[in-house]
Amino acid sequence: MNLPDDFAFTQGSLQDAADCLRRFELRYIKRLRYPAVEAAPALQFERRTRQGARFHKLVQQHLLGLPAETLARSLHDDPELATWWETFRRTGLAGLPEQRQAEITLQTYLAGRRLTAKYDLLALDAGGEAVIVDWKTWRRVPAQSYLESRLQTVLYRYVLAKAGAHLYGAQIPPEKIRMVYCFVARGGERLSIDYSAEQLRKDEDYLLNLIAEIEGAEQFTLTEDESLCRFCTYRSLCERGGAGPLDLLDEDDELEEEDFVLDFDQIAEIEF
Ligand code: SF4
Repeated sequence: MNLPDDFAFTQGSLQDAADCLRRFELRYIKRLRYPAVEAAPALQFERRTRQGARFHKLVQQHLLGLPAETLARSLHDDPELATWWETFRRTGLAGLPEQRQAEITLQTYLAGRRLTAKYDLLALDAGGEAVIVDWKTWRRVPAQSYLESRLQTVLYRYVLAKAGAHLYGAQIPPEKIRMVYCFVARGGERLSIDYSAEQLRKDEDYLLNLIAEIEGAEQFTLTEDESLCRFCTYRSLCERGGAGPLDLLDEDDELEEEDFVLDFDQIAEIEF
């Protein structure tokens, strides 16, 4: 398997591998992109993707110091986005620790491989809570068990525990880490997922096994679970059907930005 030595695993690439080794191969080894529209109708999908990216940018600008009112005035062209922004202003930062860093990337190494996590927001209190906040513009709030199983949850907590010491003043005990998903299109509803030393050990084993599976793959097989093909860009290539219906798309609507726009200038720490 030809994975470059400097390949950095992200939540997107790990999730792709966990879902379908063939998708991982096409996207990250063969680097084949956009052979088909993501979903039908494509224009509406593009609009949602742009809205999600724009919302994340607003939050970043606000956390860097731009007043929320000023940003709100720029949203007259998109009432839905304006509603999300109002929700964020009312609820987005409530109850979070005061030391906040937006759009920060951390990385650590496992089995000689780089693991990278790009956080929407880290909110920390030295010696206290370390909260990972992730804004979602999904139209539905998924089950807690679904989010617990996602590689984003697994990777983000693990990387913070391993590489967050310089932000916290000391290595962060897993029990102090919490991941919070905020659903701004659902009135700011939150789902909070705790962490523990035992969970860290389980997650580390899971990540080690997944990386070993990727590195040891002699052929990248197509997933047997065809439901995972519904929103995959490679459906036509794999002869797994046409574009999927948009109302089922929410779970994946940020993947393009998170998978492909990885800004290494923002990497805050390299830890061995
Ligand atoms: S269409 Fe299905 S089998 Fe093909 S890469 Fe995508 S998820 Fe895998």
